[in-house]
Amino acid sequence: MKTRITELFGIEHPIVQGGMQWVGRAEMASAVSNAGGLGIITGLTQPTPEDLTKEIERTRGMTDKSFGVNLTILPTLKPVPYQEYAEAIADSGIKIVETAGRSPEPFMPTFKAAGIKVIHKCTSVRHSVKAEAVGCDAVSVDGFECAGHPGEDDIPGLILLPCTADKLSIPFIASGGFGDARGLVAALALGADGINMGSRFMATKEAPIHDNVKQAMVAADERNTQLTNRALRNTSRVFKNEVSGKIQEIEREKGADLKIEDLAEYLSGQRGKVVFEEGKVDHGIWSAGMVVGLIDDVPSCAELISRIVREVEEIIGQRLAGLTAKVA
Ligand code: NAD
Repeated sequence: MKTRITELFGIEHPIVQGGMQWVGRAEMASAVSNAGGLGIITGLTQPTPEDLTKEIERTRGMTDKSFGVNLTILPTLKPVPYQEYAEAIADSGIKIVETAGRSPEPFMPTFKAAGIKVIHKCTSVRHSVKAEAVGCDAVSVDGFECAGHPGEDDIPGLILLPCTADKLSIPFIASGGFGDARGLVAALALGADGINMGSRFMATKEAPIHDNVKQAMVAADERNTQLTNRALRNTSRVFKNEVSGKIQEIEREKGADLKIEDLAEYLSGQRGKVVFEEGKVDHGIWSAGMVVGLIDDVPSCAELISRIVREVEEIIGQRLAGLTAKVA
């Protein structure tokens, strides 16, 4: 399949793996790129810029296809040297970066001087328009269904995607709620040039996380996510578990007086790391999207992507073509 996204990034299929904290390591990104999609390493999963440089090298040893790096710029419990991470990415020769959280404008000179194509993840039309204005090559438009940070406007993809299509000239990827061929066909119909999948790639053989997490996703339905951190205007959609319930309880109790200190112990990404490494699914919060309702198996990335591509052809070539033939 050819779209503006496959052309821009030189990939076979318009399927991008989104940046995921603790998941976007060399094993994940190389498996997606080897399967014809675009794999992405998550910058902040590496404790230092030097470790990120090493992880990029490790990924190069596992694929000869192109892959990108995610740099998320959001509030963190410990300060992050973002410019140093941006320079490590540029110096490593990476040519595709996914930014998220805040405008990538301060880092654009570093990225553009290195010939990097920038995809910015946006949760609103106005942020996408701004991303285009500051020189991004593409945006990834994240609807309210998404895992992690959906922003504060709560606009689902069904509205956000066509609203964005009406305002944007650069290509865009639909993100949030995508996990199968039906989603990809719908995204294309709504004006996008491809899809971003995060949660769906977590439940694959190559995802470098404990099998308990993958099985929890398979067992879950579409109601198994919860919003945390709403009162601090840094909303996060996570898998519903004991810790996300505890956070909601504290948020209700504290109301308008809530401070980050009240939640820090439960929110910490270090707890999420334990979930993924040791398979203790109730130990901390971990991002997951409503798409868990559509995840019923743990295929390899190649099986998943080839299934999606095959079913897209069936949906467009048979089901939809049959409908228009009847209309004519
Ligand atoms: P962390 O342990 O520093 O923080 C845990 C959570 O608390 C994160 O969601 C963070 O945004 C939030 N947080 C921290 N300080 C805050 C403050 N002062 N006010 C409001 N919220 C605050 O972070 P981590 O889990 O190690 O993650 C590292 C980075 O990756 C963060 O920027 C985080 O937001 C981001 N992240 C993104 C996704 C996603 O959307 N796919 C998922 C997980 C983490």
